[in-house]
Formats: sequence, structure tokens, C-alpha cells
Amino acid sequence: MSSPVWHPYAHLKTQTPAPRVVGGQGAHFQLDSGERLLDATCSWWCMIHGYGHPRLVRAIQQQADSLCHVMLGGLTHDAADQLARELVRITPAGLEHVFYSDSGSVGMEVAMKMAVQYHHLQGRPEKHRMLSLMKAYHGDTAGCMAVCDPEEGMHSLFAGYLPQHHFAPAPTAPYDATLEEVDADLMALRRVLEAHHHEIAALLMEPLLQAAGGLNMTSPRYVSGARALCDEFDVLLVFDEVATGFGRTGRLFAADHAGVCPDIMVLSKGLTGGYLGHAATLATDRVHDAFIGDSDLHAFMHGPTFMGNPLACRVALESLRVFEEDNYLDRIARLNAILVEELAGDEALRSHPAVADVRTLGATGVIEVHDASALKDAAAMARQRGVWLRSFGRWLYTMPAYITRDDEMRQIIDAMKAPFLTR
Ligand SMILES: *Cc1c(COP(=O)(O)O)cnc(C)c1O
Repeated sequence: MSSPVWHPYAHLKTQTPAPRVVGGQGAHFQLDSGERLLDATCSWWCMIHGYGHPRLVRAIQQQADSLCHVMLGGLTHDAADQLARELVRITPAGLEHVFYSDSGSVGMEVAMKMAVQYHHLQGRPEKHRMLSLMKAYHGDTAGCMAVCDPEEGMHSLFAGYLPQHHFAPAPTAPYDATLEEVDADLMALRRVLEAHHHEIAALLMEPLLQAAGGLNMTSPRYVSGARALCDEFDVLLVFDEVATGFGRTGRLFAADHAGVCPDIMVLSKGLTGGYLGHAATLATDRVHDAFIGDSDLHAFMHGPTFMGNPLACRVALESLRVFEEDNYLDRIARLNAILVEELAGDEALRSHPAVADVRTLGATGVIEVHDASALKDAAAMARQRGVWLRSFGRWLYTMPAYITRDDEMRQIIDAMKAPFLTR
């Protein structure tokens, strides 16, 4: 019996029936067949505490007893207020204001609108385009598609429908690059800014780790160099930390590796520990205060129905407490140590003819192959080993939940290596 559910990114002709999930505990979810699978992706990188975490479940239940939802237009509530204070406390010093929305894409739409309106209010309405990077992924809504990699991104067929922005080359300098290597990347960024800064409102970047556009990793020096260029050319710097936020790169935020504060920062995926969809767009005083004024144009005209949802804010607060009390940054360092030793350090894997690169950053491990066909059996082989892996393009990766145990991390790594054991 076929289902009316239309699945994301699916080829309808070749798709196989989706396994039916009935529950989950820790790093595993369970299928109706009784099969248990170790989730190597923590459900598109958001279920950082794994499934069925008792404290997160209880936080939602308790909030549901008093208030499930209320509009944030003209009203407020404790959960929205407390979460905003916590986000200001833990994000880079300088981010002082929090605008809620319901998903990462919408959080980015908010950031882009904010940047354009900021310049408009400063008397620079011609600064209305974005500068993005090749290999970027910022979401699937129209505004976000327009700032995803226009060639390799999944949205090229929509080119005629989308507004035109500027793109700089993706950084090539690795995490531990020398100053010279980073300078070449920064020169390429400078050239685009020199040519077009008069119409650029903001530079958008996924700091350190470009995620869905190809798991490209770069240096903290590139991030701090980009900050300096933005200041020089009066361009706002927007960090899309939807994927990198909440520990994925080994620090609480990728910005922390570089000691850089962006003008605007977007958080989602890990924000609620994955238990409810929500996002936050944070801004500095400089951005926020530009909206204080007398004209109608000074109001920020945006307001998703579910912004500041009390259940989402409450579970996000509990997620942050568990993150700190259970020392997740130590767990992430532990997961990284295993990934470095047993994935990136595996010489046989690295030298396999199908493998182009193996790299890690924080709780992220990636095998990049030369040709996507090398990964065609990877998911099935992983499932035989009790692991849920979902590769895309030329990338086979893991972004496990932070509660993943050492033996489970090794089980994931073994499953990732399985396609490369023969030949
Ligand atoms: C997932 C993702 C988004 C989009 O978030 P959604 O909640 O899926 O809309 C935006 N930016 C980055 C970096 C992401 O990884």
C-alpha cells in the first residue's frame, strides 16, 4: 500500500519504501519490524541528545500543562524571555537581541531581510544584495536557495526564478592552514567585495564547516579575515550556525574557534535538541539600534505564526542545561578523538582509489569520494551493520548524537568504511 506522504529529496520512480520508525532511545531508533538502528546522522544533525531523553521529554510535558502556544505579536511569556537571555549569554559577546522563527531557512530569511533593511535605514538602499560562498547551503526557501551554491547546489533548475546575488569562491585552506594558504582565500573574497561592495548588504557564511554543500572545512583565520573585510567594506557579517551551532565543530559555536562576533547569527537544528522545530536570529546593538526610529519603515515586518513557541523555547532551555551539566564539549572531544584515530587515521581508507579525502572536525567525520557511484551501496551495507547512514553526492558522513558511546562511535566508523574494504 503506497502512502500519500511525499518524501524530501526523493526520486519517486526509484525510491524504496521508507522504513517505519516507531520510537527511539539514546542514539538508536526502532523500526516497526523490531530492527534497531544506530543513527549516525542524528536525524539531519539536530537530535544532539539522541532519542527519548527523559529530561527533554519532561520539559515539553510540563510546559504543555500550562501553555502550548501563544502569539508573540504584542505578547510575551517566560520561556521566550528566558531562552533569549540564555542565548545572549552563551553566544559571542556582542549579540544582544533575539528574533525567533520556526526553522533554519526562515531564520536565514530573517537575517537577510534584517541586513537589507539595516542598510536601507542607514540611507544605503542600494546595498540590497547578498555575498555568499560557493559550496554554501542556507536552506530550501526561495530567498535561501538564491544564496546556495548556484552550480553544485540542488537548486540550479530554479535559477530563473531566483534573485541574483554575488558569490566568492569556497575557501580551500584547511582548519590548520598557514597564513599564506588563508591569504589566497581571503584575496578571492576581497576581489568580490572590491568590485561589488556598493550593492552588498551582507556576507553570509557557515563558519568553519560548509555542511550540506559538501562538508567543506576551513580555518578560523579565514573567519577572522572575513570579519575584517566586512568592516572595511561596510558589509554585515552573517553566520549561519544552523548546522555548526551547539557543539558540532568542537566548540559551542564555530565562531568561538576564531573569537569573532558576527553582526547577525542564525541558530536552529540543535537549538531545541531537535525535539521541536525552532530557530533564533541574533543581532548586535549596531543592527538592532538602527531599527529604532520614527518612520513606518523602522518596524521589522516579519512574524512567523509559531515564533517563540513556548514548548520549543522550554525544551531549548532544558537542552542547554543538559548540554552544560553533562559536559557535552568533553563528549564531543572524545568522539572527535575516535574519529581522528579510526577514520581520518586509517591509511588503508585514505589510500583507497575511490577515496578523495577523509576529514573530521568536532563531532563530524567525512569520507569524500571521487565519484558518487562509490557510495551507492553504502546505506545498505551500514544497515546490515545496524547503522543508519544517509550519504549525499560524493560525501559519506557522520554527525552523531553527542550521547553516542565509544563503542557505538566505532560501530558507525566501521559501517562507513564497509564500502571500501574490498578491492
Ligand atoms: C539545515 C540548514 C538550514 C536550513 O534549516 P531548515 O530548518 O531545514 O530550514 C540552513 N542553513 C544550514 C547551514 C543548514 O544546515
